[in-house]
Amino acid sequence: MSTVRTVGLPDVVPAPGAGRDAVEIWEVSPRDGLQAESTRLDADTKVALIQRLAAVGARIIEAGSFVRPDRVPQMADSAEVLQRVSTLPVRTPVLVPNLRGYDLARAAGAEDIAVFLSVTESFSQQNLGASRERMEESAQAVVARAIADGVRVRGYLSMVFGDPWEGPVSTAEVVRLAATMRSWGIHHLSLGDTIGVATPGQVRSIVRALVADGIPLPGIALHMHDTYGMAAANVYAGLEEGVRVFDASAGGVGGCPFAKSATGNLATDDLVWMLEGLGIRTGIDLDGLVETSAWLTRELGKAPTSRVATALTR
Ligand code: MG
Repeated sequence: MSTVRTVGLPDVVPAPGAGRDAVEIWEVSPRDGLQAESTRLDADTKVALIQRLAAVGARIIEAGSFVRPDRVPQMADSAEVLQRVSTLPVRTPVLVPNLRGYDLARAAGAEDIAVFLSVTESFSQQNLGASRERMEESAQAVVARAIADGVRVRGYLSMVFGDPWEGPVSTAEVVRLAATMRSWGIHHLSLGDTIGVATPGQVRSIVRALVADGIPLPGIALHMHDTYGMAAANVYAGLEEGVRVFDASAGGVGGCPFAKSATGNLATDDLVWMLEGLGIRTGIDLDGLVETSAWLTRELGKAPTSRVATALTR
């Protein structure tokens, strides 16, 4: 049993001058977005996407995933993409499921990684074909190496708010897994509404349960999907609870490749529109972002799911 460590300084700090209410947006379109799209983009297009996102003001851009290419072929060129964006002045975390993925990510220059666990057994089996116990062992081994190497680690929890196979999810189990990941030394925890069923009341109660268990608010992010149209409302509930880091995907691309009922990620465009409307500076140029979303969805052969991107490009 490992010793429980305190989480260190917040791993995500708002841009200088952004004010104490500023939020940080964790842009996931190049990874979480593209991995769920049936159209595969080549490395040149992915690099262009990350460059465009950086140019419009994104500061954290999840660049790829070192999962097995036979399971997620959309991410097979992540090493090349990561290397090609290494000179940009942004953080480019990558997803790493196990030590093999970690070694590949590090060889490609990764300084910033994310590991993931599912709160439910069904999703763990469906997602990676591995039990939660095995996933925990793999993730813990990766985190131990990363901490020793001075690499920043985010932990993702999937199916925090509901599971298509198991139904309601136990808050106690969410708290237990969050505490487990924290005991490994992760810097940051992202709570995933993988199928998009969360409601604002549920966001409030889960954030409160985690804070009551000792997870510091600066270490919590929300990863919302808009399946039931509640993603922005859920972010608002999170803001009211003091959460300041939100995951989003340009144009709303992506979903979840293993959960059929999931539609898109919360669109960065919609998130920025709402936050700026609240007087919260995001550092993102909305017009430039909407142009990027329009370009990205054209490349994918689809329309943006973002209401804001749609309204502003009409
Ligand atoms: Mg997602």
